[in-house]
Amino acid sequence: MKKLTPIKARDMAYLVLKKRLNLPPPSQNYFLNRLSFIFCFTLLVISSCRREAELLPKMVKISVDRKKELKGADKIATINSLHKTDKIILAAPPKVNCYYIVPHMEGYLSGLPIEVLYEVNDIIVASFNEVVSSRYESQQDALNAFQTAQYNAFQLATSKGLNYQPPGQQYEPTEQLCDGDVGFERVVDPCIQKLKIRDMMKDTVLINKNKEVIYSTLATGDEYGYEQKVQSFGSTNSYMNIPVRTDGSTNKFTMKFTWNATTGYTIGDTHSHPTGSAPSPADIFGMIKNLTTVESSDTGIDFYKNNVSITVVSGSEKYIATVKDWTVLKTAYAQYTANMDAYNRDYAKLAAEGGGTENALLKKLGNAINLYKENSAGKYEPRERGADDLPAFKICPEY
Ligand SMILES: [Zn+2]
Repeated sequence: MKKLTPIKARDMAYLVLKKRLNLPPPSQNYFLNRLSFIFCFTLLVISSCRREAELLPKMVKISVDRKKELKGADKIATINSLHKTDKIILAAPPKVNCYYIVPHMEGYLSGLPIEVLYEVNDIIVASFNEVVSSRYESQQDALNAFQTAQYNAFQLATSKGLNYQPPGQQYEPTEQLCDGDVGFERVVDPCIQKLKIRDMMKDTVLINKNKEVIYSTLATGDEYGYEQKVQSFGSTNSYMNIPVRTDGSTNKFTMKFTWNATTGYTIGDTHSHPTGSAPSPADIFGMIKNLTTVESSDTGIDFYKNNVSITVVSGSEKYIATVKDWTVLKTAYAQYTANMDAYNRDYAKLAAEGGGTENALLKKLGNAINLYKENSAGKYEPRERGADDLPAFKICPEY
């Protein structure tokens, strides 16, 4: 990394702005706040107007924290509160793995004009967000990502006539997280999780409703569906009776997500794809979109993350998707929301290349999700891209 020369703050006003969203647009300070403007103007208290001008941030502290980015890290559950299948999962051979993270990134940006400062601030915050949201295989990888983002921030700021100061020398940018550590995000093994999926699909409420969805779809050609909801955490096998319904569309079913004990905690939905296609990117990203609601309610976050799934059925195909890796899915969701049209175009292009929508889904999101399909024996088995790069059943060890 190029050696960076720290820039002295001198007697500049320090305004600590923790996140981009907290930054008020400059126009709000000045022009939209009409009452204070008129007050200043009519009373000719010019000095107080000036004081307001002095409050404009000449230097901002950019501070991006991993904990805020990845809220709701898994906590270690006690075995007593777990469902039968969870015990099997815990009894299965544990995977010991560790990874490195960059828990926090910061830097100081200063200079004028203020519009340029805000613009550069936004770009740096976005690049810092990416670094703290990622996981790295080695400490060197984490360090490289940290230093590259700092170097790029410095280059960008100076190219725009601003000053940038990275954190001091004593700052340790990397941290190792291992299985069992607070904040460690487990990658869910599909061969272990399939036991839980099979357990779920033994539920008579779900079996009957899924049949109703399939028959209604075959009769009309429209999509049908319902939500999988429970009224308390830890009771995944006592689903509420949610009536099967339709939007009256051949390619749309609107999920109604709720997260409370009265109308239910929604841990998934079943809906049909009349053409037999695999879950769409929008279906998959619904799981992370709804996580935001769960996180804002700040209750049952682990329950949601451990149990959410999406079931997509037709007369011929039955798929269930779960989240394998929340961090990877979060990054993919950011790409999706940044340009949905481009993402869906790319998906359609992959689906046309062979292997259909299932192959496109595995190519795009295979690292983020576990995808299960019902086999000829009526059992759900994980799917992967096989030797010929086409979807195939993954061969699992017997537990
Ligand atoms: Zn769908």
